[in-house]
Amino acid sequence: MVAALVFTVVISATVKAPIRIRSATQAITWNETAIVIGIAVAPTSWMVLCTGIGLAIVVRLLHLPLIKAVFTISKNTLMVAAAGTTLTALGWSWPPSEVQRMVVPLAAAFAVLVVLDEAIAIPVIAIASRTKIRNQFSANWDLRLIGFLMRFVVAVSTLVLLMVETWLLVAVPPLALSLHLAYSTRVRARAERQAWQDLAHTTDALNVVDINAVLHTAVARAANLFSADEVEVELRESRRTVRGNSEAVTYDCFTTKPSTIDASVIPIEMKGHDGSDIGVLRLRFRGPVKLSEREQYTLRTFASALCTAIRNASAYAELNRVAEEHAHAAAHDALTGLANRRHLLDRGAEQLGQRRTEGVVALLLIDLNHFKEVNDTLGHAAGDRVLIQVAERLRTAVHGEDLVARLGGDEFAVLFHGLPAPAVAAHRAEALLTALHEPIELDGMRISVEASGGIAVAPSSGGMTELLRRADVAMYQAKRAGRRIATYAPARDTADLGRLSLGGDLRRAVADQEFTVNFQPIVDLGSGEVVAAEALARWRHPARGTIDPLRFLETVERSGLLPAFAEAVLDQSLIAVNTWREAGFDLPVAVNVSPRSLLDARFPGSVLARLRAHDLPPDRLVLELTETLTLSQLEVVDQVLGQLRDAGIQLALDDFGTGYSSLSVLSRIPVHELKIDRGFVTAMETSAEAAAVIRSTVDLGRSLNLSVVAEGVESEPQRRALWELGCAAGQGHLFARPMPAARLLAALHQGAGGRPGTLAPALHDEGAVVRLSPGRRSGPRRVERLPHLPA
Ligand code: C2E
Ligand code: CA
Ligand code: CA
Repeated sequence: MVAALVFTVVISATVKAPIRIRSATQAITWNETAIVIGIAVAPTSWMVLCTGIGLAIVVRLLHLPLIKAVFTISKNTLMVAAAGTTLTALGWSWPPSEVQRMVVPLAAAFAVLVVLDEAIAIPVIAIASRTKIRNQFSANWDLRLIGFLMRFVVAVSTLVLLMVETWLLVAVPPLALSLHLAYSTRVRARAERQAWQDLAHTTDALNVVDINAVLHTAVARAANLFSADEVEVELRESRRTVRGNSEAVTYDCFTTKPSTIDASVIPIEMKGHDGSDIGVLRLRFRGPVKLSEREQYTLRTFASALCTAIRNASAYAELNRVAEEHAHAAAHDALTGLANRRHLLDRGAEQLGQRRTEGVVALLLIDLNHFKEVNDTLGHAAGDRVLIQVAERLRTAVHGEDLVARLGGDEFAVLFHGLPAPAVAAHRAEALLTALHEPIELDGMRISVEASGGIAVAPSSGGMTELLRRADVAMYQAKRAGRRIATYAPARDTADLGRLSLGGDLRRAVADQEFTVNFQPIVDLGSGEVVAAEALARWRHPARGTIDPLRFLETVERSGLLPAFAEAVLDQSLIAVNTWREAGFDLPVAVNVSPRSLLDARFPGSVLARLRAHDLPPDRLVLELTETLTLSQLEVVDQVLGQLRDAGIQLALDDFGTGYSSLSVLSRIPVHELKIDRGFVTAMETSAEAAAVIRSTVDLGRSLNLSVVAEGVESEPQRRALWELGCAAGQGHLFARPMPAARLLAALHQGAGGRPGTLAPALHDEGAVVRLSPGRRSGPRRVERLPHLPA
């Protein structure tokens, strides 16, 4: 009896349908059947003993590890004890009086077995395989239920046969065996169908073009598909290694750090169709695992699908990279990496489209001076290096999102956008050209790069083509005038001048004294008192009416008639000063001087001669100079200015802030006065940058002891703001427009509010409190009181 029972236990425990979960294996055995039969026919204690002995034999036979052996034996003996006790409690005795009475107690004992078995085994399997307990309980529940029923039926049938017809027992083993085979076939078939479906979904999921998505999906899906603890994809070429499990990617690097999960590693090489080595796919497990044949086949299929996906994604990435490279090359200059003309035009057009909301768009065109000489004397390689350096400097000096482009040769462009005011463009341009000024080191040689810049503000029509043309016009004006920077002025556009064809009229104009001079008062910003007047030339053309200076000045300068013109303006200015003096208004007059006059060594002599002829002290004359390259470069200019200064004539730097306004110029040419360009005054209320330029000019004036005059003051708030910044004097439409000398005299007589000599109410008259501007120097500006700088 005992031998028979032990034998049954051994057989039932060795016939199995194994299912692998990660590295743990769950097996369906016939244990319960053997146990139920055993406790039904023999006392429970016998059966406990037999189970222990039987399983010990199985453990020996299968060479199970100790921990597994202990677990299996204790679990099963516990189950036997519990089920046997249940049966006894239900009043079981063998053989039972009626077959029908058997079913209920046996079912109860079987239920105890099953519940105990599942309750103990499933959590242990879940923990060993690191999967969720809930998933283990719900997995294949239908098949498991069928399995229980099948095993119960076999147990009951065996007992019935044992009771009624013992010889029929020979039918039990074949019956059990065929049931077992049918059952394990079902289990396998289902697992297989599931695996193929998973594989199909997985290969679908790999069908994406992003290489990251491919690798991450592959890792997660393979972990699921092969119930692996970790999956690793290592790419041969890039040395990229991606690792993870079904939940997350845990490692993704271009170097390989050994994995900690290495109890069993199943590698598969990934080879392209052409035999190229793409990399390795590895399944990693925490325990010993051997893949079934079906799994091995799945793995090969998966690896080949992954291989294709990786190649597709790489090809796609390469295609993208090439397309991007082409797009970059099409929009950039190969030598310097800057944007090219086409890119500039595109970006400009884009910004012109939105400029209403985004501020002013302006273009600076930069042309290197003497670049050809660098190329000719040092060679093209040196020339290239200069261009690269220039590009680099522009790139670093540029403001925010302003676009730097190389248009070709030694021509560069900067597209300013979102400018608070047009005048700011000149300021930014100045900073950029200053950045180029620093000598460039070439094979131990220091080369000074000089450049001219032309600025144009976006036109209302004509788009980028017109903007580029205007900047070009401005640049040539700058070059011609020997200025570092010029801003496009429609009046000076040669396209306009050509139509005017003033050249032929000039000689007659000088002879017939068609040039007259208007005077614009310069006012003490605080008191409103007139402190000087600026002479502004006008051409009373018999056919065209009054022509503004900007329209004819260039023609005059080029015609050879400049000295005659300048003398006529000076003459009329000095006459005016004398008429005002005689009326008791001792005002100096400011006369604009063309840069070209400064190249004329006879100029100082003729000025002093005019002063003597009109019997005026030299300090009644202020000469306004525009900041030009000529100013700082040529010796003759130094001599001319030196003579004028030494004679006591006052010098002012006009349009300060827009040109060659470095401190070094100021130290070379010691002037007495700075005139802040109208553009900054116009923009000061809306632009912090413009306000900063004004503030620093005023500060500069204060520290060098120069007077500062603001041009283009058009409103009371501008006047007050300038005064509060410490700017002492100003001129502009707020006070008066340029007018004939006689009209100015009448205005001086009349005065503001009956105070002769003033053109505006004093600022502190407006309120009860007397306000003094924070940085003001003593009193109203009078030229005769200006301190002189050491020469
Ligand atoms: P500038 O020396 O900057 O002269 C100031 C210009 O601003 C003048 O234009 C004047 O009429 C204008 N202006 C003054 N206040 C305001 C204001 O509040 N708002 C506005 N919008 N404009 C104001 P103008 O008379 O057309 O002279 C233009 C330029 O021509 C002068 O600029 C000066 O550079 C040059 N210029 C004028 N007369 C002579 C001259 O006799 N000889 C030389 N070489 N250049 C001259
Ligand atoms: Ca001026
Ligand atoms: Ca000016």
